[in-house]
Amino acid sequence: MDVWEKIKDRLSGRLTWESFQSWFAKTDLEGERGKSLLVSVPNTETKEWIEKEFSGQVLTAIQDIGLPYEEVVYVVAAKHQNGSAKAPSDAASFAESLFGSPTSNLNARYTFDSFVVGSCNQFAHAAAQAVAARPASSYNPLFIYGGVGMGKTHLIHAIGHCMAANFQNMRVVYTTSERFMNQLITCIRNEKMPLFHQYYRSADVLLVDDVHVLAGKERTQEEFFHTFNELYDHQKQIVLSSDEPPKNTTGLMDRLRSRFEWGLMVDVQAPDLETKLAILDKKAEAESVELPDDVRNFLATKSKSNVRELEGSLTKLVAYSSVTGSTINMSMAKQLLRHLSSSMERKVTIESVVRAVADKFSVQPSQLKQKSNSRPVAYPRQVAMYLVKELTESSLPEIGRAFGGKHHTTVLHSIQKIERQRHKDPDLNRMINSVIDSFN
Ligand code: ADP
Ligand code: MG
Repeated sequence: MDVWEKIKDRLSGRLTWESFQSWFAKTDLEGERGKSLLVSVPNTETKEWIEKEFSGQVLTAIQDIGLPYEEVVYVVAAKHQNGSAKAPSDAASFAESLFGSPTSNLNARYTFDSFVVGSCNQFAHAAAQAVAARPASSYNPLFIYGGVGMGKTHLIHAIGHCMAANFQNMRVVYTTSERFMNQLITCIRNEKMPLFHQYYRSADVLLVDDVHVLAGKERTQEEFFHTFNELYDHQKQIVLSSDEPPKNTTGLMDRLRSRFEWGLMVDVQAPDLETKLAILDKKAEAESVELPDDVRNFLATKSKSNVRELEGSLTKLVAYSSVTGSTINMSMAKQLLRHLSSSMERKVTIESVVRAVADKFSVQPSQLKQKSNSRPVAYPRQVAMYLVKELTESSLPEIGRAFGGKHHTTVLHSIQKIERQRHKDPDLNRMINSVIDSFN
């Protein structure tokens, strides 16, 4: 990096991305003369503009990095003098094609308005709104985690839209960890690291989706660590999403993990029935389709606890009905979504539930069905009884008999206890949902 590149790197952190791209991206070091630095610019317009608007900032940048220059002389580059002034420089067009415009990556459908709030996501939603209203003053970073298809990407885009609308001077940058990594690799290969730094470090708000993808990618984590620090130190808002909490992500550098945990961590959980119904209603309304009650219940109760799949089922129905010109009804739903109804008809048995639960807790199925009340099996057994009640038609006395000859009031007591805990304990809730999903 020559001295001018260093100065530009410094400037990029101080100027808006747009200013930097318009005026400095196309400038190069020409040489030095005593205490003057000669810098080539593409045209007289740039020369005049920099001299008028940015000379103070340029000198400050020079002092900040401790360079000995006292002035910068801008010269219009010969190659640009004859009409080619309008042609973008390599750096600018490279940046344009690699990064695009910062918010163009936001999906217009993912807004707060289209997000349905339920008990499974209300905390995450409230935190996202707080951050969007008062960036960098409430929770920094905000770390949103939860299973696939639970609405993390939706929330993070909603924050982006909201901030871009409320704070028009802020540079909101959204990226996925995958894209961050690919851009980094391209910039390293093409010796364009200053561009990479300029793009990310000039953000006022950085939204990074799917940080679990960074696991095991050391060079990318290193770069991300520096980006994080630079922004955090300048009180810029950072929002991250991941499929799992930082402590569960193996292959993450400890110093990055600890930073992820600095702010607020919130999880989004699988939607309960009520939320699924509300999501269906919202989507049906957005598509202007009428969803009969039985179809609506069929979709919500039979789909997995994953909003993406729920949406997929509805989309399939809507498409079919519009192509065939017939209105949505139950027989159409059953026929199109056979994979859902077949699971309804497939019998879940006490045996299969016991096997699934034993598997989750790493105990033997036979242990769950014995009378013993030793601590390690008593709890899994209660979970199993609860799930048998949820998933099969078995009566309380039948369940009691299957689990070592328990009285039906004991069975009821256990089921109620697990029901209460499920509401309070996200890990238990997740585990129960995953067993239920495995039968669908
Ligand atoms: P994740 O990033 O957690 O895997 P997404 O945000 O991509 O999940 O969500 C999957 C799909 O489900 C998206 O189309 C999203 O709009 C929708 N979705 C998820 N949660 C909700 C919700 N609470 N309200 C409305 N739509 C939702
Ligand atoms: Mg996502």
